[in-house]
Amino acid sequence: MRAARPLILFAFAVACGDPPAPTDAKPAGAKPVDTAPREDPFAKGDAKGPPVRNDGTIYAESELMGTHVSINLWLEPDRTATEAGVAIQAAFDEISRIERLTSEWMPTSELSRLNAAAGGDMMTLSPELFAVLLRSREVSERSGGAFDVTFHAVGELWTFTPGSKPPSKAAIAAKLSLVDWRRIELDAATRKGRLATAGMKVGLGAIAKGYAVDRASDLLIARGFHNHIVEGGGDTYVAGTKAGKQWSVGVQDPGRKGVVGVLPSSDIAVVTSGDYERFFEFEGKRYAHILDPKTGAPLLEESSCKSITAVAANATDADAYATAIAVLGPERGMALVEEVPDLEAIIITRDDEVLVSSGLRSTFVPIE
Ligand code: ADP
Ligand code: MG
Repeated sequence: MRAARPLILFAFAVACGDPPAPTDAKPAGAKPVDTAPREDPFAKGDAKGPPVRNDGTIYAESELMGTHVSINLWLEPDRTATEAGVAIQAAFDEISRIERLTSEWMPTSELSRLNAAAGGDMMTLSPELFAVLLRSREVSERSGGAFDVTFHAVGELWTFTPGSKPPSKAAIAAKLSLVDWRRIELDAATRKGRLATAGMKVGLGAIAKGYAVDRASDLLIARGFHNHIVEGGGDTYVAGTKAGKQWSVGVQDPGRKGVVGVLPSSDIAVVTSGDYERFFEFEGKRYAHILDPKTGAPLLEESSCKSITAVAANATDADAYATAIAVLGPERGMALVEEVPDLEAIIITRDDEVLVSSGLRSTFVPIE
């Protein structure tokens, strides 16, 4: 079965006199902004291509991987809006293709087949799923198992919608022994893999979105569009510049719904993970969607970070490390950041302290 193409909405040119946006990307982790009026030029077969805004950018958005995805592309003077529109469409299609390989929730995905075959024979994997699993194992090792995609055997017992209840301690205990990233077997020579124990399950919610963002950006670059921002649910890759100037990405303040600061960025990934979007409350306790693989339960609210913005060379790494830092908590998380080359972070603590890693202190522009 062929999945329907993602619906894409392009933003119209901003009228003169509108206040300038504080950042070029939607603040990482922010709710989608309604940019009406809008239209889908492809639906009408508009030969002129999507609208170009006053600042020379084309903005398009879609709903993919269970989240809001947007592309903001600066149109080089020698390229047409129609060419850009076609490339943007292809980039969204690429995200949708990655989702069909890596989603643990789609019964027909390649990952679901790998999960269903746990305990059985090695299976040939697509280069994309193989790459994500390999990187997942590496981040697990580096983070001492704080990041562990095999959390899903326990993770699927939890739902994080308002009104949900925690699973029983016995139900968690029965699945916890299946959580162990070392039992993801991968053979690079044959590109085959398997989960060693029956019942094991992988969930890629903390890394696949970042990987999809990277692939979409790669595709735009391959088509000659070197200057853009791809953003999906708080995972941002910033490529090139806007008319020769760095793009700026807002770092969200989870409490006040604004930004705590701005990161001028170029050719880098900026990924925010917070506990303010998917959670439920039960008997006075708050349960959010990142689990400690050691306990099979969500992180303790009082000792966890309010939000983490990880900065890395690509969104795959930044996405995975943001989750690893969340599990480790502010102190051990920041220690990991300082230890891993090319990884930086901004952590907002429970007490609203903003911790900035050493490599970002000269670039991060705080907003009071
Ligand atoms: P989001 O960008 O959706 O806020 P994150 O990147 O913070 O998400 O990842 C959270 C998701 O990662 C969870 O919804 C779950 O699918 C998965 N996950 C939860 N705990 C872990 C963990 N310890 N290691 C790896 N993945 C996890
Ligand atoms: Mg993540």
